[in-house]
Amino acid sequence: MDTTKITLVTVGHPPPEFDKSKFSTWNSTVFSIVGEVENFSLNSQSDEANWGFSDENLEAALPQSFSGDFLIAIVNVPLQKNWYSRRLKKNRVVITAHEITEILQFFNIPFENFIYRLLYAYTLHFKRNGNYIPLANEKSSRHTHDETRGCLFDMNGIKTDIHLSCDNPIICPECVEELKKDRVSTDIISKVQTEIKKIKRPLFYRLLSFVKKRPIISLTISICTALVVGIIGSYIASYLFEITKNEVTKYEQGSSIPKDFFKKEKARDNKNEMQSNNVWLTKRRVGETPREKKNRIIAYSYSLDLVRGLELECPSFTSKSVWNEDISGFKEIQYGVYFTVGCIDNKNQKNGPYISLYKEGEIIQEGEYRNGKLSGIMKTYSKEGKLINSYNNSN
Ligand SMILES: [Zn+2]
Repeated sequence: MDTTKITLVTVGHPPPEFDKSKFSTWNSTVFSIVGEVENFSLNSQSDEANWGFSDENLEAALPQSFSGDFLIAIVNVPLQKNWYSRRLKKNRVVITAHEITEILQFFNIPFENFIYRLLYAYTLHFKRNGNYIPLANEKSSRHTHDETRGCLFDMNGIKTDIHLSCDNPIICPECVEELKKDRVSTDIISKVQTEIKKIKRPLFYRLLSFVKKRPIISLTISICTALVVGIIGSYIASYLFEITKNEVTKYEQGSSIPKDFFKKEKARDNKNEMQSNNVWLTKRRVGETPREKKNRIIAYSYSLDLVRGLELECPSFTSKSVWNEDISGFKEIQYGVYFTVGCIDNKNQKNGPYISLYKEGEIIQEGEYRNGKLSGIMKTYSKEGKLINSYNNSN
């Protein structure tokens, strides 16, 4: 299917609402605008009542030769009989913005919608008349109907009705039948029907008219939206509060983190290291003299070149000095525990202090087990060593 080539020009001072750049972005398989949208001067004077320009007058002012199959000229002066469009000799059409721009502005419709609507209407008219634009007084296929239906072929004798076919226009069923009778292919008709759906008001004004037409639904939507936004906002606020708070929320204000919780030393230097993924545990005994025979544990987490160590002293009664969790496959619990080290007694029960390093915010938690059960005060510290939470397990 060949696309119809249209030459689009402006004659005289172009209407301020006319933006020729918009026409280079419109995609159509039915017509194409050839060349640049050029401007020609209007040298003649008005020769009709009410400052109008007759067909004869404009025929002389419009370009005689052009590369398109037909020419559409946009002017800003009143036309003969104060119509908004006139068909002239030699496949030329003149369209005026006079009075139209005010009507369209009132209905928040862009001026180019009016042009697109006429480009489609005249392309079909050109096709149905054997690639010819007949004059109004020539015998030709019917071009318009007097009734306003929002159709490409509305006459719009009452000019204010023009807005109905410049926002989501249609080809009414009667016009579809007429076009088929005039041997316009069903292929072209259906393509035009699809493409003219793009001729519509900007989104903002469509939403505005939706609100005007359906106030209750709009109110419900806005209430639901406000609720959802509010809930999301409060989640964000509480999350920000959680990650920024440094204050003691419960007991034990003034406590401080034991020294050496974060050891920036290289655990790899130690001989007895056990490595698993990016966390490893180093077990070493310190104080080998009888007086100080104690099991001590230092565990390291290694991430982003920072080695962080946890140091723990187990009670002397323990035979297995330490337990550790999450060394392989980090266990994700409430705050995302990175790993935990603790003490195990002769009966293989958790018994004694434990320390956890949290993945989120580099928080340390320390607590104590007695015979396998959490007991006493469990303290949580920030990286800076501030006590941020304290919970009594014996309550
Ligand atoms: Zn119609």
